[in-house]
Amino acid sequence: MAIEKNSQVFDVVIVGAGAAGVGVAISLLHAGIDNFQIVDRNGVGSSFESWPAETRFITPSFPSNSIGMLDLNSIAIGVSPAFVMKVEHPTGSEYAQHLKDLSKFFELPVIGNTDITKIEKVNAIFHLTSEKTVLKSKNVIWAAGEYQYPSVNIFEGSELCHHTATIEKYNGMEGDEIIIIGGYESGIDAAYHLAKQSKKVSVFDINSPWEESSSDPSVALSTFSYERMQDSSFKKNVDLYPKTKIKSVNFNGELYEVTTDQGKIFKSKVKPLLASGFEGSHKFLSNLFDFRDDGFPLLNEKDESTILPGMFLCGPLVRHDNHIFCFIYKYRQRFGIVAQAIASSMGLETDEFIAGYRLWGMYLDDLSCCGQECLTC
Ligand SMILES: Cc1cc2nc3c(=O)[nH]c(=O)nc-3n(C[C@H](O)[C@H](O)[C@H](O)COP(=O)(O)OP(=O)(O)OC[C@H]3O[C@@H](n4cnc5c(N)ncnc54)[C@H](O)[C@@H]3O)c2cc1C
Repeated sequence: MAIEKNSQVFDVVIVGAGAAGVGVAISLLHAGIDNFQIVDRNGVGSSFESWPAETRFITPSFPSNSIGMLDLNSIAIGVSPAFVMKVEHPTGSEYAQHLKDLSKFFELPVIGNTDITKIEKVNAIFHLTSEKTVLKSKNVIWAAGEYQYPSVNIFEGSELCHHTATIEKYNGMEGDEIIIIGGYESGIDAAYHLAKQSKKVSVFDINSPWEESSSDPSVALSTFSYERMQDSSFKKNVDLYPKTKIKSVNFNGELYEVTTDQGKIFKSKVKPLLASGFEGSHKFLSNLFDFRDDGFPLLNEKDESTILPGMFLCGPLVRHDNHIFCFIYKYRQRFGIVAQAIASSMGLETDEFIAGYRLWGMYLDDLSCCGQECLTC
């Protein structure tokens, strides 16, 4: 296919129209920037749309904006998913619809079906290449998330498993006995839905997430999951195996054999489920960011690449020191930082913007408060 060269130079191109891309786009508008484009390989909210049908937000929504506390699942000042949807724990498809509604309301310029495969900076301008077009921009915000980049090659035979990110629904899933590898939120979510269908479930985890003493929800299970673990079907049907590393999965022609590093073998007639988390889209960005020891992009205090000015990161891949911004109510706190950095580089006045965003907890520039006991992190 011929690549269409677009002569227009945007101030910003945002890659990804999920919660991070849509949220930071609204912040750009609030900061006075309107010459921007959002591109997505699918469309608005497509990762949320592909969650298993029964999976719900673990974070509760509540219409708390009226008392000055932004709804935990909101991505924009003045917006409350609880108020709009009348749901406390939305499903993925409900939240995808919410993002589409926001995108329409704010008239966000989104082009779908545009998979960005290469980004390079030529003479101070970023060139973003997809199969059909090359977009040019002075700044780029990478908001491509992690859901569409699951961790699948993690031990011998892991490709024989189903990653939970590829499950359409748990209802009606084949098999009476199911093995789940990974016991954090997705693993416990899968176990809960399968136990409700009276399936016998075994959950293995290299750590013991359900026994974590940390108060940081990026490390410990959510209260929503702890509550689900008290359900009678969960108690009756789920066996938890903490501190159990899976070494390999093998199919012997009849059964799947799951071997632990202690040599114990567990068998099942159906493919084990892999709830092993995500590699993340930043693997594509090796020429654009320097990387931390843990493999996450190294960012300056504006969430910008330390090696390529104008290249920003938004969303769950953002890390600063030991702070993990993996949930919406965490990473939205940095939308204002990124929007302000770009606006001020364009010579726009941002004092009022900063004051408004700070008031709503959307301009977190002092990370010294953040730790386990800090309510914002
Ligand atoms: C099961 C589950 C439950 C969760 N529950 C909660 C919760 O209760 N509360 C909470 O705060 N968070 C929760 N999270 C985390 C939250 O869903 C993620 O943090 C959020 O989806 C990240 O949003 P995002 O916009 O960064 O990524 P995504 O929603 O994945 O959006 C990224 C977008 O980028 C597009 N894209 C990807 N690569 C490219 C490319 N190369 N070119 C163009 N477009 C591209 C994709 O099509 C996608 O639309 C949960 C996650 C999971 C998996």
